[in-house]
Amino acid sequence: MTITPKLSACTRGPLISAEGLNGVGKTYLTNRAVEGLDLKPLMLDEFSQRVNGRPGLGEALLRALREASAGDPFLRGGTPMAEALILMAIKRHDLDTVLPELSGGRPVVEGRSVDTTAVCQALLLHPNDQDEALRTAVALLGLASSFRPLPDLTILVTDDASKALERAQQRDQCVFTAEQATFMADACTLFERLAATDQVRYRVVDRRHVNEYEAAEQIRAWVADAGRDLGCVVEPWQGPGAACICCGRLSELQSA
Ligand SMILES: [Zn+2]
Repeated sequence: MTITPKLSACTRGPLISAEGLNGVGKTYLTNRAVEGLDLKPLMLDEFSQRVNGRPGLGEALLRALREASAGDPFLRGGTPMAEALILMAIKRHDLDTVLPELSGGRPVVEGRSVDTTAVCQALLLHPNDQDEALRTAVALLGLASSFRPLPDLTILVTDDASKALERAQQRDQCVFTAEQATFMADACTLFERLAATDQVRYRVVDRRHVNEYEAAEQIRAWVADAGRDLGCVVEPWQGPGAACICCGRLSELQSA
C-alpha cells in the first residue's frame, strides 16, 4: 500500500456566497460579474427571489417561515432561534441540491448564505446591543458550520443603508416601516463588523467607494480566483477520518 504524503487539491468547485442588505445590489452585481467568466458558476437564488416557489423541502421550509412571519420582509415570526435553525436547514438543503455540480468542479454562488441568518437572528436576539449581537452572530456561524461547511468565499456587498432601502422599496414596490428601516440599518452595521472578523473568508465591496463597473470587476476577479487550491470538505458532524463529500477522498490522507 502506498500513501502519497501530499495530495493535490480537491477537484470540487468553490462555494461562494453573496451577502448584504435587501436592495444593496448583490444579485445584480454578481450576475454582471459572472457574465465575463468562461466557467459559469451555478447561481442559487436568494430567499426573497423565490416568490413563486419551487418544489422541494427548502421551499416548504421557507413557506413555513413566510406564513409564520405574516409578510415581514425579514421573515421575523417572533421566535428567532427556532427560525435560525430552520434557515440553517434551508441552507443545508441548498448545499445538498448543488453538491453534484460542486463535486463536478463547477463554482456555485449562493445568493445569501448562513451569514444573513447569523446577522438577522443575532440582531433579533440582541436588538439594543451591537457588541452582544456581534458575539452572537459569530456563535451562530459556529452553529451553522456544524450543519454544513461554510462558504469558501463570502462577498459582502455594502452601501449606506438608506441607499439600499431606497432601491429595495423601488424594486419591491413597497414602503418599509420606520422599524424595518432601523432593522436594515442595524443589519448593515453588523454585516460590516462580522466581515471584519474573518478576513480570509470575506471580501467586501463597498458601494460608497466604488461604482457599479468597479464593483462587478472586483467580484469577477474574486470569483475567478476562488477555485484555486481548494481543500476537501467533510461533514462537520462526522469528525476525523470522514470522506470528502465532493471527491470522496479520506480526510486522514490529506494531513498525512
Ligand atoms: Zn475532496
